[in-house]
Amino acid sequence: CARHGLSPIDAETLAHLMHDLGYIVHYSDDERLRDDVVLQPQWLTKAIGFVLEDRATQDAEGILPDARLTQVWRDHSFKDEPRYDPALYPFFLRLMEKYDVSYRLPEERHASLVAQHVPQVRPELPWLPEENPPADLRRIAMICAMEEDPPGLVPWMIVRTHDYSVEQGKHHLHWQKGVFLNHGPHGTALLEKRGREFHVYAQSIYPEYFMNVLQETLQKLIKDNWPGLEGRYRFTVPCPTRVDGKPCKGRFNIQALRQFISNGVQEYPCQECFKSHPIKKLLSGLEFTPIDVQLREINERLAGMDSRIANYFRATLRAIADEAKEGPRLFTFRSREAGLSPKQILFRPMELQLWCEAEGCQHPVIEKDKGVYTIDQPHEWVKQIAPYANTVLKILATVAPIAAPAIDLFFGRDTTKTWDIDRHLDFANAVLGQMPDELKASDRGMTPGKMLSEPERSGILALHRFLNEVDPTQAKLGLHRVPTYTGDYRWLCEQHYQAWQPNIPDVIKP
Ligand SMILES: [Zn+2]
Ligand SMILES: [Zn+2]
Repeated sequence: CARHGLSPIDAETLAHLMHDLGYIVHYSDDERLRDDVVLQPQWLTKAIGFVLEDRATQDAEGILPDARLTQVWRDHSFKDEPRYDPALYPFFLRLMEKYDVSYRLPEERHASLVAQHVPQVRPELPWLPEENPPADLRRIAMICAMEEDPPGLVPWMIVRTHDYSVEQGKHHLHWQKGVFLNHGPHGTALLEKRGREFHVYAQSIYPEYFMNVLQETLQKLIKDNWPGLEGRYRFTVPCPTRVDGKPCKGRFNIQALRQFISNGVQEYPCQECFKSHPIKKLLSGLEFTPIDVQLREINERLAGMDSRIANYFRATLRAIADEAKEGPRLFTFRSREAGLSPKQILFRPMELQLWCEAEGCQHPVIEKDKGVYTIDQPHEWVKQIAPYANTVLKILATVAPIAAPAIDLFFGRDTTKTWDIDRHLDFANAVLGQMPDELKASDRGMTPGKMLSEPERSGILALHRFLNEVDPTQAKLGLHRVPTYTGDYRWLCEQHYQAWQPNIPDVIKP
């Protein structure tokens, strides 16, 4: 590699590409990649290598406009090196995207951003960890302490957090050692690698949500790319003591602190400055908050509602996924006849209505002939899934106030009204109202360590069994399962699925 002038980071990326290319092209779960041709791995990795070595992209701080692609891949000045047909470029771009080499800038820019070419120098940032946060915001800090320095960690992290990337003036707020992020109402964050430590600072009214997202993203990234680091990194909080105006280098293991506090230990000494700190204060913002406590805080309308609801939604979907991975999780019921009395509801055929799980924009599937299934014997069927249905209804009712404006923004004005989302929830309520109370209670038989109760668990398994029977190929779901960078997945409707896809053009003209 040295002969070709590749830096170790580039070599690492190429190794990943080489290793997986055969697999990715043959068995890709990416519907669009799967349709592409089988190619020679070396020939293909060389194409990515041209991008990673491209000086002009480096000078442009990583921005690679589509208009420059022919120059990089066909009209380059290397003798005896392959020249690639422009028909391949969309495929190459998708491949780079898939391997976190680059991400797409907003559509009108017609460009990708290659994360390994971001500038060396840290740009001017909206705030720094050394400065105090504004009085109305909280800032929490978490440091991932690693026994080894994983090569390429920061560029990879830049790609996987690009949904929150910030552009200021002519520059993006990222550099070789870190990135500054903005997640709208959920706050801002600063991520920076210092030696073998990866620092994460999140600032918001309720920064816990953004911090959770970033921590899970980092955790999944390490698991995906450096499995050898498993068990050799830990999440810590920095010691709050200042020595001669500088922060103490002491670190507290978060998992240990949580254990200590549940054992009744109140204070713990720092091994660097020897000062004891109250554990409660050290863990502030990093406590483990059970789902029912999160829901109670939402109902108490504590500050930072948007982020609290988002955090609750994330946690509940994850808990459900732990029990049942095979199908969509959100649904309501639909009546097929108008004007039924409450007593009649369960004895007439009704419909199961699936919902899209788009973050902060949850809604019933509206595509024609999709996402709706007839239930011929509602009485028996609803009884089986009632405990779970009740949980889902609670989730939907909680996210609905936040989702409504997002739905109108995404699908157009007054969509919430046109779809009459309240009616969906009201009818589900009426259906469950016909069930005996003991079937709806979800706090019975809770297994320790499990988030779902046993009846809830059998409820969702029954739902997935039903979907599997009536729609074994999932052709009528109207939902696509997409993975997230936090290691979860979401079932998205056609429109949200299209919006989720990187905006890579089908044709790139030379
Ligand atoms: Zn200390
Ligand atoms: Zn959707």
